[in-house]
Amino acid sequence: MSARIGIAGIAGRMGRLLAEEVTAAGATLAGGTLRPGTAKAPPAEVPLLPDAEALFAASEVVIDFTHASVAATHAALAARTGKPLVLGTSGLSAAEEEAVADAARQAPICYAANFAPGVNLFLAIAERMAAALPAEQYDAEIVEMHHRQKVDAPSGTAIALGRAVARGRGTTLEEAGTESGRDGQTGARRTGTIGFAALRGGQVVGEHTLIFAGASEHIALTHRSFDRRVYATGAVRAALWLIGKPPGLYGMKDVLGMG
Ligand code: NAD
Repeated sequence: MSARIGIAGIAGRMGRLLAEEVTAAGATLAGGTLRPGTAKAPPAEVPLLPDAEALFAASEVVIDFTHASVAATHAALAARTGKPLVLGTSGLSAAEEEAVADAARQAPICYAANFAPGVNLFLAIAERMAAALPAEQYDAEIVEMHHRQKVDAPSGTAIALGRAVARGRGTTLEEAGTESGRDGQTGARRTGTIGFAALRGGQVVGEHTLIFAGASEHIALTHRSFDRRVYATGAVRAALWLIGKPPGLYGMKDVLGMG
C-alpha cells in the first residue's frame, strides 16, 4: 500500500504544490487541514480534516509548511503519536525550535530551512569556504530576495547559510553576531559578524548570495530557485524517507545522504 501523507495548511501556496507532488510520487493523500477560521478552499481532490489531531490520526507522515506559531503544536502531536513530521515552516523562534528538538526525542522529525537539493549543497560549500576564509580577513554577507508576500526576514535559508558560515569558523551565529537592516549612521562594519540583507519584490521564488569580501578579493556564490515546486518535491522525498526511521531531528542533508 502506498504511503499515506497528510498536509497541514493545504490551501497555502506550498500546501497545494505538496498535494500535487504527493500524488506525483505515487503516495496517497491522507488529507489536509486549513487555518481555523480561514475562508480559503482546499483543492477539490483532498479530504479535508477538522484539525491537526485528525490529520496525525489519518496520516503515516505529516508535512507542515504553514506558520511558525503552530510548529510546536504539530511537533508535540508528532511526539505524542510517534508519527514522523516534515517541517518546512520558517521563522521559528529559538523557543519554538527547542520545542521541535524536544519532540524529536519521541518521533522522527525532518526540519529544514530549504528542501531544495542545490541549496543543501550550497550550505555544505558555505561551511567549507568559511573555514578557509578567516573572519578577520573576509567579511561574510548574505543577500536574499523573495516575493512580496513573504512575512519573515531574513529568510530561513539565509539564516541557515549564516549558521553554516559560523560553523565553518568554529563558532555559532549568536556568538559571531549579525548585522542587518543597516540604515543611517551605522558605524563601521564589525569584524567577524555575519551580515544579512533582505530584498522583497514581485514573485521571486528565492535567491541567495553569499559573499566573502576581503581587502583584495571578493568571492560570491549564488543559488536561484525558479520554481517553488522544488521545495515540495524535496519535502515529499523527505516524508517518504522518514517513514520507519527512529526518533531524531533530521535535516535534508540526511535525506540526500550528505549527513
Ligand atoms: P502561505 O501563506 O501561502 O501558506 C501557509 C498556509 O498555512 C495558509 O494557507 C494558512 O492559512 C495556513 N495555516 C496557518 N496556520 C495554520 C494552522 N494552524 N493549521 C492549518 N493551516 C494553517 O505560505 P507558503 O508560501 O505556502 O509558505 C508556508 C511556510 O513555508 C512559510 O513559513 C515559508 O517560509 C515556508 N517555506 C519553506 C520552504 C522550505 O524549503 N523549507 C520553502 C517554501 C516555503
